[in-house]
Amino acid sequence: MRKDTQCVHSGAIKDTMSGGVISPIFTTTAFDYLDREHLSYPRYFNTPNQNAVVAKVCALEVAEDGVLFSSGMAAMSTAILAFVKSGDHVVMMDELYGGTHALATDEFPRLGIECTFTATDADAVCKAVKDNTRIIVIESPTNPLLSVIDIKKVAEFARKRNIVTIIDNTFATPLHQNPHGLGIDIVVHSGTKYMGGHSDICCGIAVTTREKTERIRAVARNLGGSLNAATCALLERSMMTLSIRVGRQTENAGRIAQHLEQHAKVRRVNYPGLASSAFHRLARSQMDGFGAMLSFELDQEKVDPNRFVRSLRIIKPAVSLGGIESTICAPAVTSHAKISAEERRRIGISDSLLRLSVGIEQVDDLIEDIEGALK
Ligand SMILES: *Cc1c(COP(=O)(O)O)cnc(C)c1O
Repeated sequence: MRKDTQCVHSGAIKDTMSGGVISPIFTTTAFDYLDREHLSYPRYFNTPNQNAVVAKVCALEVAEDGVLFSSGMAAMSTAILAFVKSGDHVVMMDELYGGTHALATDEFPRLGIECTFTATDADAVCKAVKDNTRIIVIESPTNPLLSVIDIKKVAEFARKRNIVTIIDNTFATPLHQNPHGLGIDIVVHSGTKYMGGHSDICCGIAVTTREKTERIRAVARNLGGSLNAATCALLERSMMTLSIRVGRQTENAGRIAQHLEQHAKVRRVNYPGLASSAFHRLARSQMDGFGAMLSFELDQEKVDPNRFVRSLRIIKPAVSLGGIESTICAPAVTSHAKISAEERRRIGISDSLLRLSVGIEQVDDLIEDIEGALK
């Protein structure tokens, strides 16, 4: 099956009792244990509705198996903690999602785990590797600058040294990028974003080989963070429209990026789909589409970013992303507020930078909304 079809059909539970075409929801938390090979329990990460979602995501990501969690950070933290111990070293990029950054800075020190943060560049990541490096965590495209890293280069380097590689694939979605096929061990998604897609459920997933899944699942049983059946069913339902949602969102994002790029009041646009982007060629080589996230810097002498955001009528000022509705936020006062102003400047996040999550609305309405607010 192609991806559009996998979104609809892969992993569905066959309803042999009633012949219904949609996966039934099994809300039970207590399962018969007699004459069974595996014990089922929600926090064992193996109930029918959890398995259905995992199978669908595995089909899309071309991975053997995976574990579904109650948040993206549960997926990321469990995947990392499954492969490190005290004395080990982890390499991360400094442009990583804020929560992953905080996990390393707030929790690693007292666990005796060392971490080096690097620029969003494959050579920089490889150079940071030491004898005790056990894990490399990357993200591409990044939040909020939409930087792209050479995934294959990092994966090949790490594989030779037996280092476990983890990628946060949330922004790309499984439709645009399949890092497992490029050699990355573990692919993590915040399902709260595009997979859920309607800004109303919180979940996450890690997919990888059968062997690494066993390890992650074993640690997950101890840490918890499992997802209930009702939310699994909502997620499965949402994923059925993933390809048409993300397809439309990506198309809209491309149009808006081009529009903003030629605008006199916009100083710069970050979107790997633009031919002018420094990451365009690399993105083309490892992605099937460029996604629906973009960021741009207003010319502060011409527009006050705060007034601009308040003047929008359709695009909503909100944190989080990936929903069917377009949302916008200023990273300097939201996702990256905890980082010092100096560090933000160093990474390239100015006070006038705005991050736009493009929805499925008619794109001309979105462009008119932006035009009106710019005026
Ligand atoms: C939101 C997000 C996460 C964390 O996901 P939660 O579901 O909020 O825990 C991780 N990575 C990226 C890129 C995200 O956007």
